[in-house]
Amino acid sequence: VTGFEEDIKKYLNSNIEVAAISSGTAALHLALILSGVERGDEVLCQSMTFAASANPIVYVGATPVFIDSEAETLNICPEQLEIAIKDRISKGKKPKAIIAVHLYGMPYKIDEIKSIAEKYEISVIEDSAEALGSTYKDVKCGTFGDYSILSFNGNKIITTSGGGALVTKNIETKKKAIFLATQARDEAPHYQHSEIGYNYRLSNISAGIGRGQMEVLDKRVEARRNMFHFYVNLFANLEGISVFEEPNGDFFSNHWLTIVEVDKDMTGGISREDLRKHMESENIECRPLWKPMHMQPVFNEYPFYGTGIAEEVFKNGLCLPSGSNLSDKDRDRIEKAILNCLKK
Ligand SMILES: *Cc1c(COP(=O)(O)O)cnc(C)c1O
Repeated sequence: VTGFEEDIKKYLNSNIEVAAISSGTAALHLALILSGVERGDEVLCQSMTFAASANPIVYVGATPVFIDSEAETLNICPEQLEIAIKDRISKGKKPKAIIAVHLYGMPYKIDEIKSIAEKYEISVIEDSAEALGSTYKDVKCGTFGDYSILSFNGNKIITTSGGGALVTKNIETKKKAIFLATQARDEAPHYQHSEIGYNYRLSNISAGIGRGQMEVLDKRVEARRNMFHFYVNLFANLEGISVFEEPNGDFFSNHWLTIVEVDKDMTGGISREDLRKHMESENIECRPLWKPMHMQPVFNEYPFYGTGIAEEVFKNGLCLPSGSNLSDKDRDRIEKAILNCLKK
């Protein structure tokens, strides 16, 4: 475990500390506890994300307040974030933390979010579960938050089968994270506890797999980015389907998944669902984007600040096959299926 933590620290190449945790979700839970979030507090959270970003808010008894996306990276919108902060303060409660996500590997607007967080003195929890290998202004994602989390779940760019990491700013908070993750045992010859603990430490066996995975991480990023460029070329001359790309040279995405938006008016009437179903009929799985949290039955009673951008991309966006192991033959098959669909 210690070796794996050192590998990650070396890779992120920053003044940070790493605690290996049993999952990204558990790391988020610890990040909220370490940020001082308590029962009754409010936590601002990007709506367009996987449920694991938001669930830990409820674990600690706090209330999620969901924020819309901006159209360039599909991540937490700085304008809506500030509107929400001001409104929550005017209602009598300053939010305790901001959970920002690098969706599908695309960095969120780091500078804008950071300056708002500093202005209002609210801590940022960076959900980098999908963005190991991504950078912003040449700095690695996973190092921008007051706390940051990584995931090594089976679907991520590298995996330990199941696992995660909490990235902290200093050794004290790393030690506190490991203390909480190993049942909060006080220093004593017997078992003594003065705090509630968790069984959240990554196992040595999983960490061993992780050390091997770190050796292939750069290759995986390259393979995912090759899939992205394949789609950029494929759709360059096709009307009505646009690939989500980095807004400018500051952003570098690992392109964990490549996503497109389908504009039915421009494709000659073919909608996102038409394309998805056509691909399915050719035995090629494509999926809609994450369904925003404020639209989820379990979360739709909580406050939401936005203008409908997340809803729009949820309606028209599609995740394309993006695996690191796809072959030229697979790409041919994908290309033919897409062209067949658009010809119809
Ligand atoms: C996968 C994922 C998580 C949770 O990670 P686990 O290791 O599966 O618990 C959290 N946030 C996002 C955005 C994810 O994609």
